[in-house]
Amino acid sequence: MPRSRTYLDHNATAPLLPAAKAAMWAALEQNGNASSVHAEGRAARALIETARIDVARLVGANPKSTFFTSGATEALNLALTPSLATSAEAKPFEMLFAAAGEHSAVLAGHKFAPENVEPIALTVSGTIDLSALDAALKKHAGRRIMLALQAANNETGVIQPVSEAAAAVHAAGGVLVCDAVQAAGKIDCNLAALGADILVLSAHKLGGPKGVGAICLATDHLRFTAPLLAGGGQERGVRAGTENVAAIAGFGAASNVIRPYCDEVRLAGLRDRLEAEVESLAGDAVFFGRRVSRLPNTSCFAFASLEAQVLLMLLDIEGVAVSSGSACSSGKVKPSHVLAAMGVSKDLAQGAIRISLGWNSTAEDVELFCQAFEKAVRTVRMRRLTQKQNVKSAA
Ligand code: PLP
Repeated sequence: MPRSRTYLDHNATAPLLPAAKAAMWAALEQNGNASSVHAEGRAARALIETARIDVARLVGANPKSTFFTSGATEALNLALTPSLATSAEAKPFEMLFAAAGEHSAVLAGHKFAPENVEPIALTVSGTIDLSALDAALKKHAGRRIMLALQAANNETGVIQPVSEAAAAVHAAGGVLVCDAVQAAGKIDCNLAALGADILVLSAHKLGGPKGVGAICLATDHLRFTAPLLAGGGQERGVRAGTENVAAIAGFGAASNVIRPYCDEVRLAGLRDRLEAEVESLAGDAVFFGRRVSRLPNTSCFAFASLEAQVLLMLLDIEGVAVSSGSACSSGKVKPSHVLAAMGVSKDLAQGAIRISLGWNSTAEDVELFCQAFEKAVRTVRMRRLTQKQNVKSAA
């Protein structure tokens, strides 16, 4: 069957994996409410608990400390709470430190008052500036700190030094909340190796369905004192509301199979070939985060001479889906806060394009992208030339 579209926007959302779809269909055949004690209820409960084991395994978490939510946004809102308990005696968290390139779900700060949210600078490479983190920890010595740091950035793919940051925060008596939404499934992402206290996941970024995520706690000492949703005692009181069994089952199935699909060497090979082609077609391309460790699937670049929105539309017409900056902010023609935090000028950031490959990306996709890209660049240059000539002849 001929392929009509080339989808290279996996960081916005990944297509549903066949195993996830099959698990969801099967779960939809289950009528039971997982809280019911009869056979139907028990069958639904079994699907949820199997999925919990599968999701927890993906990140080396304890299933008993893994809770399902409606997505990463909800999980982050649950985590970013001053009253998160670490022990009976501990006082509430007083400040949230958030790396400047975090997702808006983090930067919003949730229950922390805006004056208690301190952004931590990024380096020009896109990693958290560890010396700025140290300085902030010294400045606020004696206060209880929660640091939010992504495992990898959604726009640039830059992998953050989470374990180093965790060591610094722990030495100061704080905790680290890691948004692993973009890293999980694409690279090794292990709660203990990261040194995070809390890890947040989203199913639809790793081939599961939209509208389901998870929050994993590193130790039994951590406890949520203020659930976001009050009501029934589902998810051991952490999240009230009847569970979305099909979505949870799809999340579990995707977690189970995603790693071999996203083979790092294969994806990095495709990404590197694409970047080489972009460079040969547009010599003035600037690649972001290329000098540090990046996710193997992500490429973010810009041209001073080409506007991303125009390029994006031309590529879309040619059947290629890519993004300009993060999905949550696409539609708004606003330069990315991530690139701004890396010191990229506003003009250059306006031209930023993000390509994100994934589990079903092939060499043919890269080839189709390159053909469409060449055509789009030619169109933009021709238009510009015509405009210049029109201005000249009107003068
Ligand atoms: N964190 C990151 C890094 C993301 O890329 C996203 C989604 O774009 C989120 C959090 C929010 O995830 P969800 O769509 O599950 O709420």
